[in-house]
Amino acid sequence: MQSAIVPIYARADVAFERGDGCWLTATTGERYLDFGAGIAVASLGYSHPHLVETLTKQAAKLWHTSNLFQMPEGERLARRLVDATFADLAFFANSGAEANEAAVKMARKRQSVGGHPEKYRILTFTGAFHGRTLAMIAAGGQAKYIEGFGPKVDGFDQIPASNLAAVEAAVGPGTGAIMIEPIQGESGVRVIAPEFLRGLRRLCDERGLLLIFDEVQTGVGRCGRLFAYELSGAVPDIMTVAKGIGGGFPMSVCLATADAAKGLTVGTHGTTFGGNPLAMAVGNAVLDVVLADGFIARVARVGAFARQRLAELKDRRPHVVAEVRGEGLMIGLKVKTSPQDFAAAARAHKLLTIPAGDNVVRLVPPLIVSEDELVEGVRRLDAACADLERAIGAPSKDAAA
Ligand SMILES: *Cc1c(COP(=O)(O)O)cnc(C)c1O
Repeated sequence: MQSAIVPIYARADVAFERGDGCWLTATTGERYLDFGAGIAVASLGYSHPHLVETLTKQAAKLWHTSNLFQMPEGERLARRLVDATFADLAFFANSGAEANEAAVKMARKRQSVGGHPEKYRILTFTGAFHGRTLAMIAAGGQAKYIEGFGPKVDGFDQIPASNLAAVEAAVGPGTGAIMIEPIQGESGVRVIAPEFLRGLRRLCDERGLLLIFDEVQTGVGRCGRLFAYELSGAVPDIMTVAKGIGGGFPMSVCLATADAAKGLTVGTHGTTFGGNPLAMAVGNAVLDVVLADGFIARVARVGAFARQRLAELKDRRPHVVAEVRGEGLMIGLKVKTSPQDFAAAARAHKLLTIPAGDNVVRLVPPLIVSEDELVEGVRRLDAACADLERAIGAPSKDAAA
C-alpha cells in the first residue's frame, strides 16, 4: 500500500522493532550492528537499563506541566550542564533546529539590548547544517534546502571556513555573531582547524560579536570530550546541544553565558513542550552515565582505536576508502563510491552507517560501543568494501587470499 507519510525520506527497506546496546533487531528477526545510532542520537545505545528505568518511572508520575510552573528536574539538569561547561544559563527546547533558533534570537537580542539593534546579521560557513526551519535553512545556506520555500530569511551571510582574513573582511556594521559547528557533521565530518576556531574567538572579542557553536551533533561526549569546544580551547558565548543529550528522547538545549543571554527576559522567548518533566528526567539520566568517572575518556580511547582500525581498512581497500577523519566516535569515512551505495553495501552485511556530504559515510556508534564490536564493525565494512571492489572491477585483496 502507498505510504500516508509525506514522501520526503529515502528510507531503506528495513524496519526495526527492538534494540539492545549497539544492536537492532529487524521485524524479520535479523540483527544489525548499528554504527549510526539514529544519526548520533542513541548515545547510550538501545534499552539502556538506567534510561529505561528513569523514563518508565517518570512516565508513571508526570509527563507534562508546562513552563508556567517550577520544574525541579529541569533546574537540576540546567545546573549540571552549566557546572560542566562555560555556560551560566540553559534554555531547553525539543530539537536541534529549535535550539539554534534560540541561539540566533539570543544573539540578536543581546546586540539589541546592548544598543546595536542593527547588528542582527550572523556569519555562517560553507557546508554548515543548522536544521530545517526557515531561518536555519538560510543559516545553512544550502540551495537544495532553500529553493522553492519562498524568500530566504534575511540576516545570514555565508563564507568558507578556511581563511580568517576572509572572515574578518566579511564582518560588517550589521554583523552581530558568528555561528559554526566545530566539526561539520552533515556535510561530511569536516573537522574545523582548532586555530581557526581560536581565531574566531579572538575576532569576536575584538569586534564585539557573539560566538555560537552548534554542538547539536558533536556534543555530549561524542568527540571524546563532553563538548567539542574543549578540543580547540575556543570557548563560545552560546552553544546548542541536541541529538545525543536525550539518548533518543527528543530534547535540546541552548547554553549561554549570563551576558549573552542578557536580552532574554520574561516573555521574550519560550516553548510549550521544551524542558518537560519526561525530557528532563531522561536528560539527567543520560548525564548520570556520561559524566560518570572514565566514561568520556573511554570514548576518546575507543575512538582512537576505531580510527586506527579504519586506517588499516583504508590501506587494505584503497579503491573504496579514500580517507578516515573525525574525533572520538564521530568518524567520517570518505569513500570512492557514493555514500548511499556504500551504506547499502554495509547494510547488506548487517552494519548500519549514515551517509553524509563530501562523499563521506558517518560512523557514529553508540558511545558504549565495545572494542570487540568496533572490530566486528570494521570486519563488516571490509566485507562491504570487497563487494564494492568487485562491483567496480577494482583489484581486490581477496583475489589472492
Ligand atoms: C542534526 C543537526 C541539526 C538539526 O537538528 P534537528 O533536531 O533535526 O532540528 C542542527 N545542527 C547540527 C549540527 C546537526 O547535526
